[in-house]
Amino acid sequence: MTVQLYDTKAQALREFVPLDPGNVTIYVCGPTVQSGPHIGHLRGALSFDILRRWLAHRYGRVTFVRNVTDIDDKVLANATDTEPWWALAYRMELEFTRAYTAIGILPPTYEPRATASIPQMQEIIQRLIDAGHAYAAPSGTGGTDAAGDVYFDVRSWPDYGSLTRQSLDAMEPAADADPRGKRDPRDFALWKGAKPDEPSSAAWESPWGRGRPGWHIECSAMSRRYLGPEFDIHGGGLDLRFPHHENELAQSTAAGDGFARYWVHNGLVTVGAQKMSKSLFNFILAEDVLRERDPLVVRYALAAAHYRSNLDITASSFDEAEAAIARIRTFLERAARTLRDDTDDVRLEAQVPEAFAAALDDDLGVPQALAVLHETIRDGNSALDDGDREAALRAFADVAVMSGVLGIDPLDPQWRSADASAEASALDALVRTMIAQRADARAAKDWASADRIRDAIAAAGIALEDSPDGTHWSLIDG
Ligand SMILES: [Zn+2]
Repeated sequence: MTVQLYDTKAQALREFVPLDPGNVTIYVCGPTVQSGPHIGHLRGALSFDILRRWLAHRYGRVTFVRNVTDIDDKVLANATDTEPWWALAYRMELEFTRAYTAIGILPPTYEPRATASIPQMQEIIQRLIDAGHAYAAPSGTGGTDAAGDVYFDVRSWPDYGSLTRQSLDAMEPAADADPRGKRDPRDFALWKGAKPDEPSSAAWESPWGRGRPGWHIECSAMSRRYLGPEFDIHGGGLDLRFPHHENELAQSTAAGDGFARYWVHNGLVTVGAQKMSKSLFNFILAEDVLRERDPLVVRYALAAAHYRSNLDITASSFDEAEAAIARIRTFLERAARTLRDDTDDVRLEAQVPEAFAAALDDDLGVPQALAVLHETIRDGNSALDDGDREAALRAFADVAVMSGVLGIDPLDPQWRSADASAEASALDALVRTMIAQRADARAAKDWASADRIRDAIAAAGIALEDSPDGTHWSLIDG
């Protein structure tokens, strides 16, 4: 069984063959930390979290690098007199980390900040200049705005445009720098000379004068520094293909690096079938959705569609995810209660079912994998109804291992917030006391009291289940 991935550059499904099967390497473009995360950021990071988990399941070791772009035009633009760019960048980075952690996105193996790899960026720029693929804007001819800028010479590199299959003639001018110092308006900035109105803390010494890196060179340098000149998978949102990834590919390969062997892009998020935009009031910030919804429900809702499809969020998206999570939780709790001690053993031995593995091997088919999961739950519930202990145990083990691989096991302690678990244990103590009082009343043949206690418990939305080892309670669904 091999993993197939849709390679955006080949525009085809390709068999995934890692350079080193003992260590799969993935680089994903992280956020530009200019403002807080919205659900599109969460969906992108989550797509690669699931890909990483699956490849870790298949291959064992995965080295996963996701950067933080902490220096960029937009970060500088959003800084204020009281909050310098570096403080803003760090505050936003923490917001991203908080939101990622809340929905169970595993921390990367490493998370480099662009400002910590400036010498590595300069080294690639120098190699490009030496190879004739980049040039410093001539001083004097470009006016002061262009002084100190270094551009990639797109006409020197015949492969430019190969990621998005565009010919140079069809491309728009690059909008990232004043065109006056450029040989061609489509040349893009590798290094930006310091401007008088920018803070001195946002400029570094370089052979071409004080300045800061262009956005694209950041990822070429960080991926090379941590994963080597050639690595397995480069990921990011579909909106990053051009110009960002096209430019990364051009400058890394023109500098002599093998660079990414597979390009994987996730689809974007729309809200009510429209692109998120502040003016349409349909902009969903991560902090808002995480305040209103259980983080596990948010994870499920954002993971349930195929990663390459555009995901449309509507009012019912989270309700459906909530119902799905409740089904998984109810089954696992019911099975654990009924099957008791045996469940620990089968959890340890469990393998993912073949149909589930086949779905994820096929370009990370999460929707198909979830269908297998829910079908197993249906079978498991039937087995419990029929008292078929063996079949129920098998279903329990399968559901536990599948939901674990996808990071959506509702019984995993990570989903228990401190508040919720304190509330749950307080409620458990109260209900157990009432159950004991009811048992005492029945033992004393005080049927009126026993019924009153039972009715009070039911009125609170709690179901009781009598079994040979005592009475258990659970919240009534819905
Ligand atoms: Zn990038």
